[in-house]
Amino acid sequence: MTPDDGTANGNNPLKVAIVGAGPAGFYAALDLLGRDDLDVRVDMFDRLPAPYGLVRYGVAPDHAKIKSVTRVYERGIEAAGDRYRFFGNVELSSDVSLDELLQRYHAVILSYGAQDDRHLGIPGEDLPGVYAAREFVAWYNSHPDFADAEFDLDAECAMVVGIGNVAIDVARILASTDEELSVTDINPKSQEQIVASPITKLLVVARRGPAQAACTAVELREMSHMQDSALVVSEQDLELDPLSRRLLEEGGIDKQHQRNLEVMAQESMREAPDGRFIQLRFYESPVEFIGTDHVEAVRIRRNTLTQRDDGKVVVSPTEETFTIPCQVVFRSIGYKIAPIAGVPFYSPWSIIPNDRGQVLTDLDGDPVPGLFVAGWAKRGPSGVIGTNKPDAVETVEVLLEAHARGELTLPQPEDVATLLEQRDVRFVTYEDWKRIDALEVQAGQAVGRPRLKFDRVEDMLAVLESDAP
Ligand code: FAD
Repeated sequence: MTPDDGTANGNNPLKVAIVGAGPAGFYAALDLLGRDDLDVRVDMFDRLPAPYGLVRYGVAPDHAKIKSVTRVYERGIEAAGDRYRFFGNVELSSDVSLDELLQRYHAVILSYGAQDDRHLGIPGEDLPGVYAAREFVAWYNSHPDFADAEFDLDAECAMVVGIGNVAIDVARILASTDEELSVTDINPKSQEQIVASPITKLLVVARRGPAQAACTAVELREMSHMQDSALVVSEQDLELDPLSRRLLEEGGIDKQHQRNLEVMAQESMREAPDGRFIQLRFYESPVEFIGTDHVEAVRIRRNTLTQRDDGKVVVSPTEETFTIPCQVVFRSIGYKIAPIAGVPFYSPWSIIPNDRGQVLTDLDGDPVPGLFVAGWAKRGPSGVIGTNKPDAVETVEVLLEAHARGELTLPQPEDVATLLEQRDVRFVTYEDWKRIDALEVQAGQAVGRPRLKFDRVEDMLAVLESDAP
């Protein structure tokens, strides 16, 4: 290997840092490492010791098949040998700065996802008992940031605000039995609390109609096949509002939403049964959470739907309001990208300005040399795991175009490991992670689960210092 001459041209390997070991990071890494015509080294950083982002800490514990996508990532990077390195437990900002990475790599791809959530901005949102679905999901999935989080589930009625797949996951997990959860990788402490909860009514509240529900038919169908919970949609909601009815007749409702309507019509009950149920409620927006030292009820406003000139179906508030007694609320209206020091950020929209993955200084600003973005951090928090593949591939294309133009430089060829060691950052290598992984799987299999996750960083690091195989 010839010494680096400061450019990415010639025989020198192209050195790329990827920040965030979720699906977007892996799809970008696999695309780079899979190119026969490219001499490339990829270092991937994650603030947690464990890779896989929301596949590990977001996807519902009872969706084991979806999580198995991690094997595709494993196979790909294991085939790359020492051209790929994992640096877990390294956070961009507190452990290493963006400038330090830009100096040590020809290019940096940010794929750190969306670490915050959107608020409703209504009175009472800070009352105890009103939680972000993001935090609840992270808690039951053993995310180390939430190992000590507490959720008061001592309620008869729980409300989930929003009807995307995350909202449906939260409702389904809350309605699951001990038997259903015991074969999953859910955090056992969370499981214990969930199954002990007296919640019988789970209300999923959507501001638009059944024909606009953002969740998928697969997730809806799952709710109608639960051991101890029924799916309920009222006759009135199923009849649809005049606008949605017209759109349906004119073919203005797409296949995914039509399938949702079919599942709701065929597989849900019209009225709440005596036992536990999940009711999907439409055309309703919470306008206030009511309570003194804990949420006790939610004031709801009824909506109608209208169509904008651009065709989008939007909510029009009516004067009608009413109150639903309810002791726990999960708002599930979307994740949000959090700003990170040194990374351009357009706060009004909470986005990293970019053009096909090339980070820009501002919305209509100049490219930041060597800085790229992929996944949720690039396009916002939407789309399934697979959506991140073409998204990351596009970013890699743009990166390689910049490389071909000779725009990517390497000012400081020092290995990042040296810097981290000087700072006493205990980074977790891929081999380290495989040890943690094996122990989790072993512990899980002993009790009939796919794995039992460590929920504390210090426990994961302690294992690495021990003699455990
Ligand atoms: P992420 O998966 O969020 O990965 C980002 C990574 O960056 C994380 O590992 C994080 O630790 C790391 N990071 C953050 N900040 C820093 C930092 N400062 N320094 C270093 N590292 C950092 N899709 C499906 O197809 N099926 C499902 O069933 C499904 N269920 C979902 C359930 C939930 C609750 C959610 C929220 C999403 C779900 N999705 C599902 C969508 C899917 O998870 C996302 O499309 C995908 O994970 C986004 O990938 P990403 O790589 O952009 O971000």
